[in-house]
Amino acid sequence: MRFLRISAVWQKRVALIAGSVLLVWAGITLTVFVNQFLTSGERAEVAAKQAAAAAAEARIARYRDRVGEIAADLDERQAQLEEWQKDYFGKEGLPAPAPADAKTEAGAEPAAKPVETSAIDPRLPPEAQTLARLEARQEAFSARLLAAVTARAAKAETAVAQLGLDPSSLVRNAATGRGGPFIPFRGRKGQAGALGKSFAALEGALFRMEVLERTLVAIPSGQPAHVLMLSSSYGYRSDPFTGAGAMHAGLDFPGPLGTPILAAAPGRVVFVGQKSGYGNVIDVDHGQGILTRYAHLSGFTTQVGTQVTAGQQIAKMGSTGRSTGSHLHFEVRLNGVAVNPRRFLEAKADVLEVKDDARQRVGALAANRGAR
Ligand SMILES: [Zn+2]
Repeated sequence: MRFLRISAVWQKRVALIAGSVLLVWAGITLTVFVNQFLTSGERAEVAAKQAAAAAAEARIARYRDRVGEIAADLDERQAQLEEWQKDYFGKEGLPAPAPADAKTEAGAEPAAKPVETSAIDPRLPPEAQTLARLEARQEAFSARLLAAVTARAAKAETAVAQLGLDPSSLVRNAATGRGGPFIPFRGRKGQAGALGKSFAALEGALFRMEVLERTLVAIPSGQPAHVLMLSSSYGYRSDPFTGAGAMHAGLDFPGPLGTPILAAAPGRVVFVGQKSGYGNVIDVDHGQGILTRYAHLSGFTTQVGTQVTAGQQIAKMGSTGRSTGSHLHFEVRLNGVAVNPRRFLEAKADVLEVKDDARQRVGALAANRGAR
């Protein structure tokens, strides 16, 4: 009879252990039972879901740890975006975003790809959600800026090509610093790259646009003298002195002695003096590797270092050097190589219009940067 007198405490313990064993057994049985009913595909799916959930948890944990870092990144990107918008579009404003279903014109440059923005995970902590929303808005704005830059660059590219220059090689030369005088591009190459792929793409597009617009401005399309040019005078011809075949690397403008000689594009006077064969000569540097030369002058009205505008008088026509009569010898050099200036002087009105837009934009850009 003694062993039947188990204490109440022990009765409870035994009941608890038995209950636990029963629960574990039921759990195992249920798992086996469920597994038997799941196909291998379904099992993989369940496993994938579990893995995805675990990955999301890990991502959220990482995000929580990095909130401070992300906030600092966003700040830096915002500053860069605002600077670019102000510098390049401050005066004219950004064009309205194109509707998503807008079809691109046939033959047009492919529109800039919109930057993907990941949906905001509702399980993110509130401060992280705020940052994620900011990031998504920033990416959308960056994509809009990229689309506007791409469209503007395409316009400049067409005009540059119509003037007979190769836009791609101009951009390449500028990027390697070989495009003549250095372009004061203030983009922070390394830094923008560090800000992410979409920022690096945007910076590349801005650089391209700026090179092409600056080239348009530098192209000497203004009349260097208000007299008729001998439009066929560029190229091989018989030398007026020796009669032998010789390359004539410029265009001749015959006219009365003292006729005003005008800068064909804005630029800086880099040479005033005598050169063998040229007589009295002036060189004007227009940037982007473009230089104009005015020869056989009878006098100068400018000096080295002067910043001149297109159409500004720099000299007087004459017949110094190897010259048979009063005329202007006008040369255009691209990266030191003489090119036929005729295509620049005969630019069509629509090209000149794009060129004038570029002149205003480059001017505004310089003013914006100078104000900083
Ligand atoms: Zn000549």
